[in-house]
Amino acid sequence: MTENKKQKKGYPSKLKSQPGQKTYYGKHFDPRKQHGQQRASTDGVAVRIGQNFPLTIKRLGINGEGIGYFKRKIVFVPGVLPDEVAVVKVTDVQPKYIAAKVLKIREKSPNRVKPLDTFADEVGGFELEHMTYSAQLAFKKDVIAQSLEKFQPKGWSDYDLRDTIGMANPYEYRNKAQFPVRKIDDVLSVGMYKRGSHELVDLPIVHTQSPATMKVLRTVRDLLDKLSVSIYNEDKNRGTVKTIVARVSHTTGDVQLTFVTNTDGFPGDVALIAAINQALPEVNGIFQNFNPGRTSLVWGEETIKLWGKDYIEETVMGKTFQLSPRAFMQLNHTQMTVVYNEALSALNLTHADKLVDAYAGVGTIGLSLADKAGEVRGMEIIPEAVDDANINAKINHISNAKYEVGTAEVLFPKWQAEGWLADALVVDPPRTGLDTALRREIIRTKPEKFVYISCNASTLARDLVDLTKAYKVDYIQSIDMFPQTARWEGVVKLTRRD
Ligand code: SAH
Repeated sequence: MTENKKQKKGYPSKLKSQPGQKTYYGKHFDPRKQHGQQRASTDGVAVRIGQNFPLTIKRLGINGEGIGYFKRKIVFVPGVLPDEVAVVKVTDVQPKYIAAKVLKIREKSPNRVKPLDTFADEVGGFELEHMTYSAQLAFKKDVIAQSLEKFQPKGWSDYDLRDTIGMANPYEYRNKAQFPVRKIDDVLSVGMYKRGSHELVDLPIVHTQSPATMKVLRTVRDLLDKLSVSIYNEDKNRGTVKTIVARVSHTTGDVQLTFVTNTDGFPGDVALIAAINQALPEVNGIFQNFNPGRTSLVWGEETIKLWGKDYIEETVMGKTFQLSPRAFMQLNHTQMTVVYNEALSALNLTHADKLVDAYAGVGTIGLSLADKAGEVRGMEIIPEAVDDANINAKINHISNAKYEVGTAEVLFPKWQAEGWLADALVVDPPRTGLDTALRREIIRTKPEKFVYISCNASTLARDLVDLTKAYKVDYIQSIDMFPQTARWEGVVKLTRRD
């Protein structure tokens, strides 16, 4: 408690000492006047692409990039840390900002560490791996502080921002690996794309992935190679295997394997399956997903089972969930449980409560909480996920929970209008946050217990501007769901003002 108070006190003054993003370009700035690569912007800062200059890093932005100021214009530089001095090279000049890359770090931060993943500065999803873990956690607390300062919901400077809950081991947490497969100079590569490009990097070791998924991917890579299975060639739009997806159950250790293919058929699959069965007994089911042609979507519509079981089983808060290849499950089992427990303690449910599980996915939150509540209703826009949620209710003998297909902004008001009044509400929206209509209905009906689980501090802060008309923010607890990345997750406890 005392600790939280202390943080609360320290935080607004810290915010004020940071340079405000709003002040670095003039009010009368006209983006239409900005042309070409070489330009003097109306704030008087002349700068060109390719130019080098030394830069002191003041802080990290919400995407984990370093922020400094070149003649009062904001500069974003990935891979640098607060208090570092770096020589940077301008890569882009925009009316509102300059983007640059590091040439040399002249003064290093004590928080700098060598990333375990050697490719961390090349591929996406490792934005903070050059930073000590405690500094990463502090950053994640600061992300929400920055967003609140920007949107300024009612009472924002007094919110109790709790220290981010981290992992004991901030590696090997990702239970699913979804890696493209290509032949590069005749070498079979399975890995990730370089940031902002279509260049695949072969990745034998990825420290944030569960070792089980990496073992399966690398073994399958070798088998594809040995058996000369047809691999997709993007330039020619020919060949078969495009992507391999391996997902491990944290509970059982079983691995589900899916080949996303360009072709309807799968030449060589019989020999491949036999070889996988022999080499990888942990694989309990093998699937083919058909996704033809050049597309930015990883998955196609059609999935068939080639061999084995239809699903892997995962236990969440004592409940069992059956996961087919497309069924959604959070990537970090350990921290997911922390998030759900935070939601549980913030909601403080009784057996009289009607609980709404909004943005339900396969119902993990509502079903985990069902035996603490009177009744649970949830909604979700993906019909297959709703089917899974209702099946999961059955498997766990939960008879007081029901899931429907539809949007939260339509179904929540509909249920209220029908007289099914929610006592408790948990929302877990995607990055876009809550729809205006839903916010309006929440403010109007004011469920007594309300928890907002957010994966985007920006849209959370925006939504709080509306929600704080009817609710107070008790606290914001950030949880590190994605160590080594800049991604943010938080649980907000809200209490009615009246
Ligand atoms: N609560 C789940 C899933 C959260 S992800 C869990 O913890 O696992 C957010 C979910 O919201 C996705 O499954 C997405 O399909 C769903 N969704 C997106 N927009 C929605 C909307 N407008 N109404 C209801 N659900 C929506």
